[in-house]
Amino acid sequence: MTHPTPTAPLRIAFVGAGIMGRPMIANLRKAGLDVIAYDLSPAAIARLREDGVDIAPDLKSAMAGADVLITMLPDTPHVQDVLLGEGGAFGLLPAGSIVIDMSTISASGIQAIGAGLATRDIALIDAPVSGGVKGAIGGTLSIMCGGSAEAFARAEPVLGAMGTTITHAGALGMGQVFKMCNQLMVGVHIQAMCEAFALCRAQGGDLELLRDTLMGGAAGSWMLENLGPQVLARDDSAGFRIDLQLKDLRLAGEAAFEKGLPLPGLSMATALYLEARAHGEGSNGNQAMFRTYDRLTNQA
Ligand code: NAD
Repeated sequence: MTHPTPTAPLRIAFVGAGIMGRPMIANLRKAGLDVIAYDLSPAAIARLREDGVDIAPDLKSAMAGADVLITMLPDTPHVQDVLLGEGGAFGLLPAGSIVIDMSTISASGIQAIGAGLATRDIALIDAPVSGGVKGAIGGTLSIMCGGSAEAFARAEPVLGAMGTTITHAGALGMGQVFKMCNQLMVGVHIQAMCEAFALCRAQGGDLELLRDTLMGGAAGSWMLENLGPQVLARDDSAGFRIDLQLKDLRLAGEAAFEKGLPLPGLSMATALYLEARAHGEGSNGNQAMFRTYDRLTNQA
């Protein structure tokens, strides 16, 4: 799909330069956009400095003169704080500006934030992403957007610098709904992969050969392709942390509960991740669910 390209010079304030934010900033700059970044963490700031990114000492300086504010933060309270909190975007951005929140947070949370910003005529798009660090580095993220058609049209050229599949899912919050569906499938796909590996291992099979074989058939998946090798190498490094995966499953679980939906796959994947976190794996990558299967099957 081709997307409109940004009409430079656009100045972007980018808040939240973590695992995802850092490479997303790099791609915005590659597309010729003028980016100023802000993060609370000294380690994140040091990495931005290595990249030669313009760094703001505080939120206020980040937003001064920005045409667009992008946030890429862990969870709903962080976004709430940066957008509506004291010293946040609400009081700093001029009327008519646009905020693109690319974090994965609650759908009702982003709707409430949007209603707050609207009172000062600041537009908001929720634009959570899928594709992992690999997609963030390659500029190939899938970006699921919610908001008015007009705000989406303004955001799309900027999003085109970071992703290749950019969807207008519906009204504000619908990007988060699409993303929670994505995360539900991610959790269940990882579970399916770990279970197949555990069965093959118990039967004395060759797991590398299993993975290569399954990749060519109906069980082939993004998970098998991208996280399968990490599981087989016993590489637990994140990528996407178990803590964040649990946050996303919680958001999906809350949305399902709100509508009275029994979703057993979601409940089971959530329980397996809770087991992993209870064993101290919260900051490992989500492929570390295989450790749960080590414990369940008493094998390693
Ligand atoms: P991360 O923890 O690496 O980065 C978040 C950054 O936000 C950190 O550097 C932190 O210091 C900063 N931050 C927190 N509060 C702040 C504040 N008030 N002001 C300024 N900076 C603040 O997380 P991540 O992996 O980059 O994920 C970010 C979001 O993207 C999450 O919602 C996550 O669920 C989502 N996501 C992550 C991945 C992935 O593979 N890591 C993939 C898709 C979506």
